[in-house]
Amino acid sequence: MKIAFFSTKPYDRKYFDLANKDFGHEITYFETRLTRQTVKLAEGFECACAFVNDQLDASVLIALGAQDTRLIALRCAGFNNVDINSAKELGISVVRVPAYSPYAVAEHTVGLMLALNRKVYWAHSRVREGNFSLDGLLGFDMRGRTAGIIGTGKIGECVIRILKGFGCKVIAYDKFRNPACEELGVEYVELNELFERSDIVSLHCPLFKETYHLVNNDTIARMKKGVMIINTSRGALIDSRAAIEGLKSEKIGYLGIDVYEEEGEIFFEDKTFEILTDDVFARLTTFPNVVITGHQAYFTREAVSAIAQTTLQNITAYENGDELENAVKTD
Ligand code: NAD
Repeated sequence: MKIAFFSTKPYDRKYFDLANKDFGHEITYFETRLTRQTVKLAEGFECACAFVNDQLDASVLIALGAQDTRLIALRCAGFNNVDINSAKELGISVVRVPAYSPYAVAEHTVGLMLALNRKVYWAHSRVREGNFSLDGLLGFDMRGRTAGIIGTGKIGECVIRILKGFGCKVIAYDKFRNPACEELGVEYVELNELFERSDIVSLHCPLFKETYHLVNNDTIARMKKGVMIINTSRGALIDSRAAIEGLKSEKIGYLGIDVYEEEGEIFFEDKTFEILTDDVFARLTTFPNVVITGHQAYFTREAVSAIAQTTLQNITAYENGDELENAVKTD
């Protein structure tokens, strides 16, 4: 099938070209993001392959439909950037990669916790400058701390397994309980109780209307003073302005984020010589107790390879008229 591949990076090309030897699709790589301005590039392609920050709102989908694109192949798990109802109305199928390596994201999540707790980023630059003082680097034992996990699906469960290994007490909130987590001894609690009891709050639920700004002024007010908040899920789960206030008042003791609500304009590009115009993001980067990574939690060899394999399999299934097991469905 002819595929218009958007937001291409050299590593995408490498892993997709390798996997495509077994599928034989005709892939045209575009570096640009898919937006209203760039949608014309997909003309003549039956499939558009998109990533987390490509814009698939109603207007882009209408334009794609008019150009005879019939399939959106997301090479990611989240689908919050796609107007699924519009796609359905237009008869455009949407497939995704629901699982590729929950371990990759979970390990990065715990990496952020440890980096913040033990101030690895400060220690690293100090040592390089010949400063071996330990002042300000005091951390805490993870053992015995209460971690509150919101969303106990594939990634949340992996995070729980790692934290259990550290000897953390794990409490969780999810709309649906995961029996594997219950077997691990996780205590399911209501959301407010989770905020009130947790030393570490880690977000692993999808971004929906109901989870938008789940961490906000009110919920931060419920949290313990000095709480650690980690978000490797989707940026808009956290109200960034509220987080800044929480950091300024020292209610939030640590913030680790791999995602940011306005990341589409910033992440995945080298902006070294550009002026940062997002004042909220700029403010976040000034705190000594904030670690930000640029949506790299998924980025391991295993995960990128699995993403390529499943995306191309999804496209082949569509081409063959098979049942689309990874289709994104409307409610
Ligand atoms: P999953 O579908 O296996 O698990 C999500 C869990 O969230 C489910 O158990 C679901 O019941 C729960 N949930 C749904 N609505 C909820 C609500 N209102 N409150 C609490 N829980 C709710 O998904 P997953 O594979 O574990 O991925 C979780 C999220 O991680 C994805 O939605 C995606 O946004 C994000 N993600 C980020 C990266 C990255 O690189 N940073 C990579 C992959 C996935």
